[in-house]
Amino acid sequence: MTLSPPRPLVPVPLTDYAPRIVIVGGGFGGLYTALYLQKYRHLKNCSITLIEPRERFLFTPLLYEVLTEELLLWEVAPPYKQLLARTNIRWQRDWTDHIDLEQQRITLRQGNSISYDFLVVATGAKTRPLPIPGIDEHALTFRSLDDVVTVKARLDQLAQAPHPVAVTVIGAGASGVELATKVADRLGKKVQVRLVDRGDQILRPFPRGLQRKAMHALMQRNVELLLQTEINAVGPKSVRLDDVELPSHLTLWATGTEPVPWLGSPVNTNDHGQVWVRPTLQLGDYFNVFVVGDVAVQKQAIPNTAQAAYQAAASVAKNLARIIRQRQPQGFHYLHLGDMLTLGKGTGGVWSFGISIGGKLGGIIRRAVYIHRLPTNHHRLKVARRALGQIGRSIWPFKQP
Ligand SMILES: Cc1cc2nc3c(=O)[nH]c(=O)nc-3n(C[C@H](O)[C@H](O)[C@H](O)COP(=O)(O)OP(=O)(O)OC[C@H]3O[C@@H](n4cnc5c(N)ncnc54)[C@H](O)[C@@H]3O)c2cc1C
Repeated sequence: MTLSPPRPLVPVPLTDYAPRIVIVGGGFGGLYTALYLQKYRHLKNCSITLIEPRERFLFTPLLYEVLTEELLLWEVAPPYKQLLARTNIRWQRDWTDHIDLEQQRITLRQGNSISYDFLVVATGAKTRPLPIPGIDEHALTFRSLDDVVTVKARLDQLAQAPHPVAVTVIGAGASGVELATKVADRLGKKVQVRLVDRGDQILRPFPRGLQRKAMHALMQRNVELLLQTEINAVGPKSVRLDDVELPSHLTLWATGTEPVPWLGSPVNTNDHGQVWVRPTLQLGDYFNVFVVGDVAVQKQAIPNTAQAAYQAAASVAKNLARIIRQRQPQGFHYLHLGDMLTLGKGTGGVWSFGISIGGKLGGIIRRAVYIHRLPTNHHRLKVARRALGQIGRSIWPFKQP
């Protein structure tokens, strides 16, 4: 793919000009861009609109903790209304249906349209469909708030069952391993958790130190690991693996994702449907359009993670601030800070710059890092206060009344 150099910067004088910035998608890429924009004093008179249909932001890395009641829903899924209360960001609760790049106009599902001077698109990814009979009907995904509520309710039901239960987790990537260990801890001795993957190893792109820690956590919890195993079908209470039918009272689907399809005027995409962007995260010839997070791809290999989307958001906000000041945008450089996994209730694995920490300490470090990454000081403080109380109670040598 060849790209011509970007067009000139903002073609209007800055006096008497209050640019309209519209952000589509309020996840890690979109919400954090909006929040980072608050740091720039010269953008105070901009109109910033965040278009997001859901009521709550989802801090996905900490969703697993809701299943074991280590964290509460409000902590990992704060409402946008509350997050944006002390900002000049206007939340438009709607789906974007179409983006007209030439007219600089967005059509919303409820029929309204919004014009923009600058646009940030961060619509994220969704579960990639799998051609396995019964999977759509009988397996549960773990991506959205509804998923978390449904999976938690099913686990609560299974915890009450008068008989032993079997849970199958499809996919031994990060999400599969984290789910398997959490489910094992939630249901204890009455559950047989089975982790199935067609590949020959768990956590393929992760450092060996973390893979070993995860393996240890799975073995400690008697999780049955079935690698190089094909799922042939999923039923209401069973799975068929390599043509053998096994009981499965709950089947969780934790395999790959694909980007949410692009919503408007044609753009260059890769084979997976991700939109090609410049190193500055600008879209092709549209100097005023940025694409960020899981939906974007560029020459520099950047993982589809919250960590990358969060860093890219800071870069987009900075570039918007620069462009509005009539300065050239700068390239985004991703810095991989490390990898972290939750490996059961209260424990985790952390790998950063060659240092690997596991067990309870790993769990505490991971939680602390993620609390630090939560959106807005106000929310972060509320969650931190409760977490400190929990840690205090867990190390206090005397019994609580
Ligand atoms: C269970 C789970 C655990 C994860 N754990 C980790 C982890 O530990 N570490 C890590 O780094 N990454 C993790 N990830 C990956 C991480 O969540 C994503 O990489 C990250 O959220 C990508 O950010 P994004 O802004 O591109 O998309 P998202 O955060 O998914 O946000 C996209 C937003 O766009 C909105 N949207 C979609 N379509 C439209 C539309 N038409 N109009 C308006 N809005 C729209 C959606 O409602 C959503 O709010 C995890 C993901 C999941 C599902």
